[in-house]
Amino acid sequence: MVLTDDQRALQETARRFARERLLPAYQKREQAGVLDRELVVEMGRLGLLGIDLPEQYGGMGVDGVTTGIIAEELAYGDFNVSAVPVGCSLLGAIIMKNARPEIIEQWVPRMTSGHAVVGICVTEPRGGSDAANLQMRARRDGEHYVINGEKTSITFADSADAFLVFARTGKPEEGARGVTALFVPADTPGIQRNRFDDVGSRIIGRGSVFFDDVRVPVNHRLGDEGKGFTQVMVGFDYSRALIALQCVACAQASLDEAWAYAKEREAFGRPIGQFQGVSFPLVEGESQIAAIRQLSYHALALRDAGLPHTAEAAMVKWMGPKTAFDVIHQCLLTFGHYGWSKDLPHQQRMRDVMGLEIGDGTAGVMKLIVARERIGRAAVQYL
Ligand SMILES: Cc1cc2nc3c(=O)[nH]c(=O)nc-3n(C[C@H](O)[C@H](O)[C@H](O)COP(=O)(O)OP(=O)(O)OC[C@H]3O[C@@H](n4cnc5c(N)ncnc54)[C@H](O)[C@@H]3O)c2cc1C
Repeated sequence: MVLTDDQRALQETARRFARERLLPAYQKREQAGVLDRELVVEMGRLGLLGIDLPEQYGGMGVDGVTTGIIAEELAYGDFNVSAVPVGCSLLGAIIMKNARPEIIEQWVPRMTSGHAVVGICVTEPRGGSDAANLQMRARRDGEHYVINGEKTSITFADSADAFLVFARTGKPEEGARGVTALFVPADTPGIQRNRFDDVGSRIIGRGSVFFDDVRVPVNHRLGDEGKGFTQVMVGFDYSRALIALQCVACAQASLDEAWAYAKEREAFGRPIGQFQGVSFPLVEGESQIAAIRQLSYHALALRDAGLPHTAEAAMVKWMGPKTAFDVIHQCLLTFGHYGWSKDLPHQQRMRDVMGLEIGDGTAGVMKLIVARERIGRAAVQYL
């Protein structure tokens, strides 16, 4: 992909920040176990958050491809920190499109400056793949909605400043048609949250959010009542391509380190890079990662041109995390016994990318989406 001068300049800013500020403390950050909000504000100052949102609200109004370039660069330094700009782009766009002006004006500039992180609450304890079958209720009471129920597996559960919540306002048998989206500040009375002890992405703080008679004004509704799924829950093709680029970058970081090691580590009197048993698996990883990178940018370019990209985005969303996991594993093995130590980052990168084999839709659901794009309801009637 040939970059424009503007894209190259933004890439350079993100690259410098990722290599100098993020990469050296990637593992230390996991040990601290919390999202460093100062770092988020720093990204905001550098213009790296919501870069695709309008300038009026703190963005730069760039296209999806450029947003992908930034996500990729940041994830090279720290996969978890790069979840903040990706979430900001996805949820900022949803808010811009569906919220009342007072919500947009109050919250979007805070998101792009790094002073607010917003989470999205869809999944419930009974399951996430069948997302439209949710049970959380939002009852209308005059000029308010009153929300009751539990959301679970929520990214930034214990650190988000607000949540985009999908709750049922219609009858259960209405399925996706009876779901309404609400913007809920996290300090609204009646909200409690916790944090899971996760395998990876530990600074993200995934957990449950409990709603007990949580009252939100009607003007906090996004889109129309009952249209939460059809109007608001869009834009995920976009974030799927961005997520794939995060995974690509994480694998590329391990590949670059493994190549450098293969050049200097010796066995049997020569660099191990001379053994094709060492170099060929790395070449295979490079090839697979390069292919997924190109397909991810192709999906973003289609989006920027206003063309369908659902299948391409779902393809890279399942291939990205899985391939990155396998490639990083191979890199870990290249380091021999050192790779097995927590001193090196490969084990953390494997754990981190693995979460996105599930989060934002599992590989199984992504494959159903691709099949549906190809043969419609003959492939899947229930999605
Ligand atoms: C790191 C991470 C971050 C997350 N962040 C958020 C968040 O911010 N907000 C949020 O709302 N949720 C979030 N989730 C939840 C995530 O969206 C769900 O875990 C996901 O949609 C799957 O739902 P489930 O875990 O309930 O699995 P289930 O739906 O119970 O599925 C279990 C298994 O069955 C398979 N399966 C189910 N149906 C089918 C089918 N029709 N065909 C083939 N296979 C099928 C699935 O692929 C899966 O392997 C996150 C999850 C993770 C791991």
